[in-house]
Amino acid sequence: MNPLYARMGTTIFEAMSARARETGAINLGQGFADGRGPDAVLQAAARAVLEKSNQYPPMPGLPELRQAVADHYLRHQGLDLVAEEVIVTSGATEALAAALFALIEPGDEVLCFQPLYDAYVPLIRQAGGIPRFVRLEPPGWRIDSAALEAAITAKTKLLLLNNPLNPAATMCSAAELATIADFCVAHDLIAICDEVWEHVTFDGARHLPLIGFPGMRDRTVKIGSAGKIFALTGFKVGWMCAAPPLVRGLAKAHQFLTFTTPPNLQWAVAEGLATQDDWVQQARSRFQAGRDRLAAGLASAGFAVLPSAATYFLSVDLAASGVTVDDTTFCDRLIDDAGVAAIPVSAFYAEEPVSHVVRFCFVKENATLDAAIDRIAAANTLRR
Ligand code: PMP
Ligand code: GLN
Repeated sequence: MNPLYARMGTTIFEAMSARARETGAINLGQGFADGRGPDAVLQAAARAVLEKSNQYPPMPGLPELRQAVADHYLRHQGLDLVAEEVIVTSGATEALAAALFALIEPGDEVLCFQPLYDAYVPLIRQAGGIPRFVRLEPPGWRIDSAALEAAITAKTKLLLLNNPLNPAATMCSAAELATIADFCVAHDLIAICDEVWEHVTFDGARHLPLIGFPGMRDRTVKIGSAGKIFALTGFKVGWMCAAPPLVRGLAKAHQFLTFTTPPNLQWAVAEGLATQDDWVQQARSRFQAGRDRLAAGLASAGFAVLPSAATYFLSVDLAASGVTVDDTTFCDRLIDDAGVAAIPVSAFYAEEPVSHVVRFCFVKENATLDAAIDRIAAANTLRR
């Protein structure tokens, strides 16, 4: 077996969800929302199964969906993408794999930020790349140019940015993005920008795509996911957008990963992107209310809650809460003693983990959040 996989365990999201299923714990671990998503999207998917072709769609995606993605980004982010610059993938995960496999030559270095989504490092390594880490520190998790400059070498070819950032729940400021863009231009890097959380933003903040910054239009792969936009994580419909010379390479990797994505789901997402802006806006307000409810509940149970500007998540700083055990031990006690699943943030580090922060998902019904808060407040083993 490939030692890369022989050495690794099961992803923390599946591990925690499996434990929650087995024990009946309230699952605030893996990021998925309660609720059904927008009805129009579900009905479009069902209609498409019955009324449209269920044979292989075109390899780069249905033209209607590629156009809908381009239109969506023009409307929301002022981008000038055309349909031919969009490739539909089976979730953002496939887009990440295709982009990394297409762009990495063995020995290339990929500059990444820790904490990072757990799929990144195995994909980089499987492509023969070498991850180089810029470490972000809680509670601010900010990016600065000195840290970028310290991580660059003659072999650096790519920069992989997740913005908004899971699990930190931060969004890059315009100044940070300008710094990153200048850095990519100065060092001739291609940026892969995982923007799956671009619509899950709070307090009126607007997501700024890196591809829109000076010098980035032709050197950025922008990745998105309908699973996050419509809170339908099981759909696994995503995309990658890039200028033609890059997109040709990405298509070659995509064709031998999945080749294509179920056509009914593509039709449904095309319809959703064209018609469901209001649903997305309302979901944002609902999620923000869930964020505030869980933050208030955890604070009143005595935990130091870190700010959340975006994503489905907020975090608790264990050290600042007076808890002395590490995040993994805390999450074990949380599930065993309180019946609540969460995610230890150390799972988002490939080296030198931050191990005093725990992530909770708040996109749940009020009753679920309240029950979790009650259980956490009542469990007396947690605060040792
Ligand atoms: N990137 C990040 C940062 C994520 O948080 C997630 C899932 N939550 C993904 C990628 C995967 O997205 P998808 O389910 O569309 O593959
Ligand atoms: N991205 C989701 C999270 O952060 C999990 C996705 C998965 O389970 N693969 O919770």
